[in-house]
Amino acid sequence: MDFLNHLLNFILPPRCQKCGTIIGTEGLCAQCFSQITFITEPYCQKCGRPLAEAKQGQMLCPQCLREQKSPFRYSRSALIYDEESKPLILGLKFYDKTENAGYLSKLLYQSGKDIWASGVDVLIPVPLHYTRLIKRRYNQASLLAQKLSHLIGIEVDNRSLVRYRKTKPQVEFSGKARLKNVKGAFRVTHPEKIVGKKIVLIDDVMTTGSTLKECALVLLQAGANSVDTLTVARVI
Ligand SMILES: [Zn+2]
Ligand SMILES: [Zn+2]
Repeated sequence: MDFLNHLLNFILPPRCQKCGTIIGTEGLCAQCFSQITFITEPYCQKCGRPLAEAKQGQMLCPQCLREQKSPFRYSRSALIYDEESKPLILGLKFYDKTENAGYLSKLLYQSGKDIWASGVDVLIPVPLHYTRLIKRRYNQASLLAQKLSHLIGIEVDNRSLVRYRKTKPQVEFSGKARLKNVKGAFRVTHPEKIVGKKIVLIDDVMTTGSTLKECALVLLQAGANSVDTLTVARVI
């Protein structure tokens, strides 16, 4: 096996997942690594937004202190979504760079430590409509969930939550129009698999959170115990 790995590395040496430079190990070259903004503590214990500074005893961001009605138990993301992290995410989504899923799932694993500590039953990737799945051939969220499942040993459920109404891409909308675009787009097809479960929704990016929110509401309506979100990147 070792020999095979060496051979494979020789034929297909690991490349930086952002710029393509040949590097010794899986992941990012030093330069790309330094350009990406990882979300590290201090961050809001509920929504995961980075906090400017950790005040003594302050665990929540101003938004979470103000409103209590978020459908999410915890939200966590590994990176800030910006011009530097964009190529990593878009590569996985649109350019068939499915090999990136391995490294990105390790980032998910690390940034989800508070979630794992609080107990989780199942990982659910944000589903694509089947027509989009046929066109793209794979669901990037599902790939991430699959790889993450191998790392953490929690099962993936690809069937119980479906996108049954085709929606326009969220990038075409902003603010409240995004919520409206995904309203009623998701359905739980196997409620018996959802009842009482602590669920983590997996996706590549959290922008306004409208899609994840709609998924969470549908899952909670179906009887889920709690819903967390875990995304590779996040717009702040
Ligand atoms: Zn690089
Ligand atoms: Zn918060």
